Amino acid sequence: MKIFKFGGASVKDADGIKNVFNVLEQVGHENVLLVISAMGKTTNAFEVVIKNYFDKSPELQASIQEVKKYHNQILMELFEDENDAVFGAINTIFSDLESFLQHNKSPNYNFVYDQIVSLGEVLSTTVVSHYFNSRGLKNQWIDVRELIKTDNTYRDAIVDWDLTQKNIKGLKKKTLNITQGFLGSDENGFTTTLGREGSDYTAAIFAYCLGAESVTIWKDVPGVLNADPRYFENAILLNQISYREAIELAFYGATVIHPKTLQPLQKKEIPLYVKSFVNPLLPGTRVSKGADLEPQASCFIVKKDQLLISLSSLDFSFIMEENISEIFGLLHKYKIKVTLIQNTAISFSICVEDKFGNFPELKNVLAKKFQVTYNENVSLYTIRHFTEAAAETVAQGKEVLVKQISRETMQIVTKEA
Ligand code: ADP
Ligand code: ASP
Ligand code: MG
Repeated sequence: MKIFKFGGASVKDADGIKNVFNVLEQVGHENVLLVISAMGKTTNAFEVVIKNYFDKSPELQASIQEVKKYHNQILMELFEDENDAVFGAINTIFSDLESFLQHNKSPNYNFVYDQIVSLGEVLSTTVVSHYFNSRGLKNQWIDVRELIKTDNTYRDAIVDWDLTQKNIKGLKKKTLNITQGFLGSDENGFTTTLGREGSDYTAAIFAYCLGAESVTIWKDVPGVLNADPRYFENAILLNQISYREAIELAFYGATVIHPKTLQPLQKKEIPLYVKSFVNPLLPGTRVSKGADLEPQASCFIVKKDQLLISLSSLDFSFIMEENISEIFGLLHKYKIKVTLIQNTAISFSICVEDKFGNFPELKNVLAKKFQVTYNENVSLYTIRHFTEAAAETVAQGKEVLVKQISRETMQIVTKEA
């Protein structure tokens, strides 16, 4: 079996969905499981709905209508028959949302978040499944929440591999299966999500549990490039890289592959292809076991909107293991991800990503023990297989706050000038 994952960019409008159909026509769809994300920026749009709900904002209804209008527009373009069952199916999903908002009693933001954002994937897979049927491509719509079981860490759920494996084993393999990325459910059957951009990971979970032949993630780029073309000119395609190189790139922030995707694939040596949904017959990038053929080219990764925090002791004492373990305990508690560490005798600096906006709270806790200084909105550049010339192009015109070098990797924290 092959696992194909189509992300938000590939299904952002009616033409995108038609293109997914064409891709399958070209590359084949026998024995394929399709994992699909929410269309375009739907997850972000639902985040606005959730915020409005908790803020009791008068904009709540308007924000729901916006998501509805976007989906209806796509339906109108895809389905000529106004009586197609898809219209009712999509309406039901929105009525379920209204009903949830009316009846919900939980004050838990993360719980509510997952119950609502998950509808993005439920909507997209419903549309795609009906559309394929209307084009004569029979398929099976699967509710992934019945298969992928997780703990109840809403918004960042951890997979229960044993249960998930058991559930997935029963999947019918001959048909074209279509399911949602990014979602799971906890032991009470409530929806959970696997972390933003988590649909690549869903593809890997299925591949691992099914012992799949391969995973292909279809992107708006030709494959894994040596840099994000949004930020770097003249990025080049890496034809073949090892799991290890891919893990490193994803870990440092190459968003083309979700970092959690690679470990399950590497464990079973299942190859990962990153291909263009615009030119599906091109080879793209193959990620597999073995030596790296390509990346002797320097690879550039940028993480924007980072925080550089420096902590020093209030009484000029050393920052030692004990303090450091306490600091990390707090970072873990506040779900703040460390992207770079540097320490000297009396000061400890970390570059972090505060996805959940918890830094102000953490800062107050840290300030009781340390002197805390910080720079907001800094960028962290990572160069794998760096050269001095590569470093120079990155640092040019920027104020460098930290520079750190290890054997293969250079990291530079900059304040944009
Ligand atoms: P999806 O639609 O599957 O969610 P993403 O938008 O998350 O896809 O990932 C594709 C994007 O990743 C590209 O448009 C590109 O801007 C970005 N990207 C970041 N780093 C790289 C890289 N090294 N190679 C290719 N693309 C990259
Ligand atoms: N729709 C989810 C998100 O936007 C998951 C994904 O796209 O991978 O984060
Ligand atoms: Mg994405």
